[in-house]
Amino acid sequence: MAELKEDKTNEPKVDDIKAAAEEKGCPVQKAKYYIVEFLSGPMCGRCLPCSLGSYEANLRLDNLLEGRGSEADVAALRRIASEMLVGSLCKKGKDTAKFMLEWMDTGVYQEHIEGRCPDRKCLAYIEYRIIPEKCTLCGLCKDACKHGAVLGEKRKAYLGGYRPFEIRQKKCVKCDECRKVCPEEAIVILDIKKKEPVGV
Ligand code: SF4
Ligand code: SF4
Ligand code: SF4
Repeated sequence: MAELKEDKTNEPKVDDIKAAAEEKGCPVQKAKYYIVEFLSGPMCGRCLPCSLGSYEANLRLDNLLEGRGSEADVAALRRIASEMLVGSLCKKGKDTAKFMLEWMDTGVYQEHIEGRCPDRKCLAYIEYRIIPEKCTLCGLCKDACKHGAVLGEKRKAYLGGYRPFEIRQKKCVKCDECRKVCPEEAIVILDIKKKEPVGV
């Protein structure tokens, strides 16, 4: 079947979407960004492998990003990309399929199923913690946190017996503001799944 010509509109081209997607730190986030932009722009809906495939891929990627991913999601993404590669009417669909397949065999999708984002970018799999030995009780992180998630009292020169600051996980939205202001690099991002010890 002949390939359709791309529309001459102002909508973003797949190459531009790909370049912007590459900026994302995690391959699953790259794919999600690409698919969302593709669906809202260049995807014209004229053939089913691409239109239905992109729509389903979007949902499957959400599962992986939000901590409910399974083998079935990865298998579905592989099937969708293969069908798009063969059955898409134009280069846009085929390029999208190639982009989805690019990271499929690197193990990064599997790691998300197992509860870990190797790049520590997906919020469902990380938490912020304060290394007690590094914390000097300056209070800058508490001032920076707009969610009331930092627990602790600033050190007063004439008083002892203070406890290091802590992050209340239930209140933390993982916005990174506290880590940016800590002068001691005492705030770290850890894998939730690994239950890593916090230490220097
Ligand atoms: S492959 Fe091309 S023609 Fe088919 S839906 Fe996607 S963008 Fe449209
Ligand atoms: S900004 Fe850093 S050093 Fe200061 S209280 Fe927070 S964690 Fe401790
Ligand atoms: S990551 Fe954001 S919400 Fe969480 S403790 Fe730091 S500033 Fe507060």
